[in-house]
Amino acid sequence: METLAIINAAKVNEFALAPLAGGPSAMERVLSYARGVLGGDDGILVIASPSVPELGIATVRKPSWTMHDVLSEAAGFAASKPGADTVLYFHADAPFMDLELTKTLLELHRRYRAEYTFADGYPPGFAPELIAVKSLPNIVELASRHDAPSERDGLFAVIQKDINSYDIETHLSPVDLRAFRFAPVCDSKRGFVTAERLWGQGVRSARDATGFLPGHPELLRTVPAFMWVQIAEGCPQACSYCPYPGMVGDPRGLSGTMPVERFERLMADAESLCDDLVVDVSLWGEPSLHPDFAALAGAVMARPRFTMIVETSGIGWKQGLAEAIAAKAGSRVQWIVSLDDADDDGYRTLRGEGKDEACAFAERMIVASPGNVHVQAVRMKENESRLEAFYRGWKKRGDKVIVQKYDSFASCLPDRVVADLSPLDRLPCRHLARDVAVLCNGDVPACKHCLSKGADGRLAYAEIEGNAFDDGLEAVWNRMGAWYGRHLVRDYPEPCGRCDEYHTFNA
Ligand code: SF4
Repeated sequence: METLAIINAAKVNEFALAPLAGGPSAMERVLSYARGVLGGDDGILVIASPSVPELGIATVRKPSWTMHDVLSEAAGFAASKPGADTVLYFHADAPFMDLELTKTLLELHRRYRAEYTFADGYPPGFAPELIAVKSLPNIVELASRHDAPSERDGLFAVIQKDINSYDIETHLSPVDLRAFRFAPVCDSKRGFVTAERLWGQGVRSARDATGFLPGHPELLRTVPAFMWVQIAEGCPQACSYCPYPGMVGDPRGLSGTMPVERFERLMADAESLCDDLVVDVSLWGEPSLHPDFAALAGAVMARPRFTMIVETSGIGWKQGLAEAIAAKAGSRVQWIVSLDDADDDGYRTLRGEGKDEACAFAERMIVASPGNVHVQAVRMKENESRLEAFYRGWKKRGDKVIVQKYDSFASCLPDRVVADLSPLDRLPCRHLARDVAVLCNGDVPACKHCLSKGADGRLAYAEIEGNAFDDGLEAVWNRMGAWYGRHLVRDYPEPCGRCDEYHTFNA
């Protein structure tokens, strides 16, 4: 029985082609792995964009690929190899593809005559997914009905659409590493640095990684993945569960904004530090109040590896502005409309006036940018009994609903938590490893959540690590590492010991 390999190189960039840890590039390592499994080049097909260099093996090139395209090519290739029973599917930017783990998966797949086999609980990039050749035509047909982008989890996204129709086998990692969000795959600067550091620690296999990673969370902090930016000081609402009024007084009277030129400089600095980034323009204040929001959105969109999140009350948007941005940006801008309650009185108690305008905005945007609009409720004692109605009501309107965890900001606000979701064993804070927050004046607190109450009762950041405009973003980010270092040795700075946000992720 012959094994085939489909290598997805459709989205490889410079990080997969650069020498890694002083040796071959990720892509060269992936090709060596494939040859090691198959015993040669025959049986390998590379799915590539036109920019991928000539590899000397069978390659199909197209400027853009969907999973239906990829699977159709795989099915055609398998049909030309009558002795083949199994296709290995993996990505060209994964330098840790593991031969031993692949043998385990192949044995499992063939022993149980599975149609689809995968490894679960490992970081991405250690194991292929396995498809039975006989099932490929059926999966191609499924993809023709539920196509998915050709992304890392694209194959699973297709199979998931009819998961009960397939015989699936799973090999579980001895240690579940999914919560680490650790990805030593060379698709970004973050992934490349991660892979180099892991290699530098002597890790070569999935078995090594499962033994090494749990004791080395310092590897989880490389460059920011998520940036909060405050672009406006004012807000049309002073929500009852938001700490911002406790920091600045009533935000309805504030009018300061971040100048466009400063925001553009911040984006340029962020690009050179991070390469790719999720930018959330709603740290505090309402983004609709920025007088040139379109220019800010343009500065984010000008960087092809950046995406943007706009969290908004839905109040104050000039007619047509958000729709025009959404039309240009598509899925690169995600809109989160905070509504919190379906009930008029409940909304007024939590958020104040403006429910009709906010709901109308959400409904307009759901039409203007389908699939990219999320209606949000913070789950707390005050709205818990009405949340199901809220969820069902907005689900019916066809878009996404986020039920967000309540944050007491390290007990600065009353305890309104409905369910404690904290892990039993405390982890070093994810926000310190992945996020950076920039206030309107450029100040960078240690994290978005680290508020303390002063003697006068006013809330303020426990520590400002520097100023992104004066000190440079990279210098401030490096300084922020000291807090993470303290978390690594369980020496929590004030107010982290009281905070329960450490296990949540933004990106
Ligand atoms: S534990 Fe809380 S306050 Fe401390 S850095 Fe993490 S999110 Fe911020």
